[in-house]
Amino acid sequence: MAGKLCVEVFMEGRSHLLIGLTAGVVLDSMIHLSGDPLTMAKAVPLVLIVRKAVYYGAVGFGALLPDIDNAHSIIGRKFGPISKEIQHLAGHRTLFHSILGLVLGSLLAMGLERLVIYLLGQRGFELPAELISTSHLVFVGILFGCIMHILADALTIGGVPLLWPIRKRYGFPPSAKWRFRTGSWPEFVIVWGFMILVALAIWQSIIII
Ligand SMILES: [Zn+2]
Repeated sequence: MAGKLCVEVFMEGRSHLLIGLTAGVVLDSMIHLSGDPLTMAKAVPLVLIVRKAVYYGAVGFGALLPDIDNAHSIIGRKFGPISKEIQHLAGHRTLFHSILGLVLGSLLAMGLERLVIYLLGQRGFELPAELISTSHLVFVGILFGCIMHILADALTIGGVPLLWPIRKRYGFPPSAKWRFRTGSWPEFVIVWGFMILVALAIWQSIIII
């Protein structure tokens, strides 16, 4: 019952994760943030694997982050009391689904990037740590994930309050009647349609990962 109720209120975390990671593949194929494409590399060095793992980890985290304002979401359950407090103060799909939220998310992403560099350095992964600090892999990944989350929520009937604390909600298409209800079949079609398209593009080498 509780699960069903949640599904109706917000887009599923799993959908956000899949959209974020798939879009992350597209972004990476354009700017090669995580290093050389695996399909082109003659040998796959450990450094490259660490970079790819860190990049996709950052994108996935960013794709879930805006729902920190919902205590029932995947990320909300991890951050229990913090997330309850945010939900209590601002409400779900408010602060963290706005431009202000993206600014806060960027600050958090900068902090986490420093943390990842430190942790990698400590474990003897000096080279990946160095590469992350020059490419800002973690920062870009988290921010990109957050943006994809907000864009995906903008496709739903509820829209997103981009200019929060102003309450007006924005969405695409602008008329809410063309947008879909969260947890309904169009969400499924959009998520899987997008993944299949990207998979086809990878297969056709239009996108290289
Ligand atoms: Zn959301």
